[in-house]
Amino acid sequence: VRILVDMDGVLSDYEGGFLRRWRDEYPDAPFVRLSDRTTFYIADQYGEDARPLVRRIVLEPGFISGLQPIHGSVSALNAMDLAGFEVYICSSPLSEYRNCVSEKYEWIEKHLGGSWVDRMIVTKDKTLIKADILIDDKPSVCGVEDPPPWEHIVYDQPYNRQEVGKRRLTWNTWEAVLMADVGA
Ligand SMILES: [Mg+2]
Repeated sequence: VRILVDMDGVLSDYEGGFLRRWRDEYPDAPFVRLSDRTTFYIADQYGEDARPLVRRIVLEPGFISGLQPIHGSVSALNAMDLAGFEVYICSSPLSEYRNCVSEKYEWIEKHLGGSWVDRMIVTKDKTLIKADILIDDKPSVCGVEDPPPWEHIVYDQPYNRQEVGKRRLTWNTWEAVLMADVGA
């Protein structure tokens, strides 16, 4: 069973990292609690006036490489590997790629180790990658292959709950969800 695992919002805590920086840099500006986030793209909920400020934070050097792992993500990825799943990390960089692509690799090396660097797939279109399962926090992952070659299992986050009808998991529940697939 080949599994693609998304990075931002699945392995790395993009939302938590953003909120911390937002509150540091704009202490008087309104903010949205993580549990109240309802849109996949942060700027869609923070409003048009905030859009350039949101972009500034996420494009800042050190933002991507400095994100904390989502709790349980590192041990889950290693456990999936040990359980015999063929695991790849699959990430779509921002079009403003200058910091984020190299910082994603840095993040993997730092938190997962060098062996995972070779299992990183960077693509704008995840439907082109052949696998059985994609674990991703984006509510709908589309591309040129329609239907996609994999089952999208949603990594559960407050901002993707409107997406119904797909299986969901978190790093607390992945074993129960995925082991059903291999009959274990
Ligand atoms: Mg993501």
